[in-house]
Amino acid sequence: MNIHEYQAKALLRSYGAPVSEGRAVTRAEEAKTAAGELDGPLWVVKAQIHAGGRGKGHFKEADAGEKGGVRLAKSVEEAAEEAKKMLGRTLVTHQTGPAGKQVNRIYIEDGSGIERELYLALLVDRASSRISFVASTEGGMDIEEVAASTPEKILTFTVDPATGYQAFHGRRIAFALGLEGKQVKECVSLMGILYKAFVEKDMEMLEINPLIVTDGGSLKLLDAKLGFDSNAIYRHADIAALRDETEEDPKELAASKYDLNYIALDGEIGCMVNGAGLAMATMDIIKLYGAEPANFLDVGGGATKEKVTEAFKIITSDDNVKGILVNIFGGIMRCDVIAEGVVAAVKEVGLQVPLVVRLEGTNVEKGKEIINTSGLNVIAADNLSDGAEKIVKAVKG
Ligand code: GDP
Ligand code: MN
Repeated sequence: MNIHEYQAKALLRSYGAPVSEGRAVTRAEEAKTAAGELDGPLWVVKAQIHAGGRGKGHFKEADAGEKGGVRLAKSVEEAAEEAKKMLGRTLVTHQTGPAGKQVNRIYIEDGSGIERELYLALLVDRASSRISFVASTEGGMDIEEVAASTPEKILTFTVDPATGYQAFHGRRIAFALGLEGKQVKECVSLMGILYKAFVEKDMEMLEINPLIVTDGGSLKLLDAKLGFDSNAIYRHADIAALRDETEEDPKELAASKYDLNYIALDGEIGCMVNGAGLAMATMDIIKLYGAEPANFLDVGGGATKEKVTEAFKIITSDDNVKGILVNIFGGIMRCDVIAEGVVAAVKEVGLQVPLVVRLEGTNVEKGKEIINTSGLNVIAADNLSDGAEKIVKAVKG
């Protein structure tokens, strides 16, 4: 689960991290008052969306102005003006995809004078099962690009969970970042704060890009991106309360309410599969036959008829879907339950596109009978590749 920059900064401030004063607003009328509460003489007006690259992004609407989603202002009036231009408009960045994201909230921050922009991140390193620090002098840049072109400019190391964070970790980062004097001490303390927050709040990612050395020579978090382990959110009511459902794909949101593992993709073949491995294999084989999957969907082992119905509705609600492949290998999941769900869903929402069903395993005969006597226009398939071939043919002709 991701949260907004202004929320991330508030959380990290509560741990003692240095961040500027700021105000989040959702209406243009509030912007002037909010900006007036900050000292100036520089204000930063920042679009709050769950995507990075805002500064280099652009708005779809001409009346949003030429600039991106992070704007500097030299007066309260100018700050309010920039906030007004961005609110309600669609910001496109390299992380949003071409559709962009609507800006529903603006964060107005007390502007900082920057001496240097640095990069700092904490991640869960899957290979070592440890938390790792990533630090670079190349702040404010796309870190993937830095990693590709100048990997020597990135320091990365993991922390032994038995000892936890130690001062020498912080010093290592400070020296890699070229910090001097009191900044080294500040860095040791700041890295400890970030590590503590990361562990206590079950984060999977914490990215500060940029971490800056201010013109006064101290460290400050200028941007903050936090991601939390969804499986641990139940332990953190405070974090769960920060969820912004308007930032999520509506189909993925509906799926999460029914506890379905669903991820929207760009292709044309909707897939309903049980088991993550079979779902991956199904996506692969669709590609092999020359089409692209419209989604990943694992209905799980113990899916009920209601859950299957909901899953089918989510798939058909996607306008990109030009055909549906149901691929079930019933082990724990029973084929008749799937069949009932599919039939119920089609009766409710109709079927505008070809549907190929491949059932195998527990209660397969019962499942096939339900489909065959339903009056639905279903193309039956015998195995995985037969199913993929048939649906691709039905869609592409
Ligand atoms: P992102 O583009 O979504 O990553 O948004 P950031 O919050 O990282 O802002 C992008 C860039 O705007 C930063 O790298 C800075 O160069 C600039 N910026 C952001 N805040 C300030 C500020 O307080 N003062 C100055 N001078 N520049 C800022
Ligand atoms: Mn940034």
